[in-house]
Amino acid sequence: MDKSCDIKKIFASFGLETQKSMDRYTSFRVGGPADFLVLPQTMEQVIALVKTAQKAKLPVTIIGGGTNVLISDKGIRGLVMILTRLKQDIEQTTPHMNTGEKSPDQVYLTALAGERLGSLCRYAADAGLTGLEWAAGIPGTIGGAVMMNAGAFGCDISRIVTEIVVLDLATLETAVLPKNNLHFSYRKLALENSIVLKVRLGLTKADIKTVKDKFYRNLKTKQSTQPVSQASAGCFFKNPPGFKSAGFLIEQAGMKKARCNGAMVSDLHANFIVNQDNACATDILNLAGQVKKSVYEKFGINLKKEVKTIGD
Ligand SMILES: Cc1cc2nc3c(=O)[nH]c(=O)nc-3n(C[C@H](O)[C@H](O)[C@H](O)COP(=O)(O)OP(=O)(O)OC[C@H]3O[C@@H](n4cnc5c(N)ncnc54)[C@H](O)[C@@H]3O)c2cc1C
Repeated sequence: MDKSCDIKKIFASFGLETQKSMDRYTSFRVGGPADFLVLPQTMEQVIALVKTAQKAKLPVTIIGGGTNVLISDKGIRGLVMILTRLKQDIEQTTPHMNTGEKSPDQVYLTALAGERLGSLCRYAADAGLTGLEWAAGIPGTIGGAVMMNAGAFGCDISRIVTEIVVLDLATLETAVLPKNNLHFSYRKLALENSIVLKVRLGLTKADIKTVKDKFYRNLKTKQSTQPVSQASAGCFFKNPPGFKSAGFLIEQAGMKKARCNGAMVSDLHANFIVNQDNACATDILNLAGQVKKSVYEKFGINLKKEVKTIGD
């Protein structure tokens, strides 16, 4: 029996898929096959899968909602774990008064990493908890949002994360990391070689109507200013520090509606590259390269990708 048959056997109990195309697991709708693909449902399964993959010397790639990634046309070697099924009921608790976290209005929401950020937003809005309204309409999982330090309307997730549980891939131990040990920066959490398994957010009790109004206002703004119904990975480039937004620079460089085969710079928001018509990852990358070049030639600014490129 060859090595791949052995591995298939080992992963069979986790619902392994082989050579499954990644395009259906990413919001860009592109990406070649994963050698091995699994969708674990519990933290224990994630840990067991990582241990098995390490024994088989397979690299492990973690994908959440796949809404901030561009996966190559050749796909991903090794084991891909998609965490969208890693969820259970959102847990609501109040801090103990003797822990130093004294605000009587504070409420914690705890969720497994695969919980949709949108579900947490709606849960918070329905419960009259403020602190997450800025995230209205941001797709993906809470684990991905923490890794990317997702943000909008001048806020980001770093402000409300109070604690995360991670699996350290070097030691295969789980650890609870309190906020003070987490180093967030613009669209980034400095956390290497670890999988986020669970996240606790600290929100504040508020008037339900006020929270809901803000949530829906933000959602409406997002829907009217971004091509949310088209295949994309959100903003392709980071906003350069100290300058106007990347979208403004791209528009001023005359790149709105620029195309490379089926990939196009959105007419609505120039920092969105959309998969307009069966683009492949190479089309998107080539178009991003043209955008970068045009902005550099006009402004001397080197745009950096926000989207994570993954795969061969
Ligand atoms: C229409 C649209 C609008 C968007 N608007 C916004 C916006 O307003 N603001 C914003 O910040 N982003 C926005 N995004 C981008 C994206 O939705 C966010 O970055 C989101 O938080 C990513 O979550 P995800 O679960 O999809 O992560 P993925 O795309 O699956 O992964 C992102 C990165 O995190 C890693 N990762 C994911 N989960 C884990 C985990 N549990 N443990 C370890 N590593 C992990 C992956 O390996 C990858 O490197 C938008 C995207 C789209 C398509």
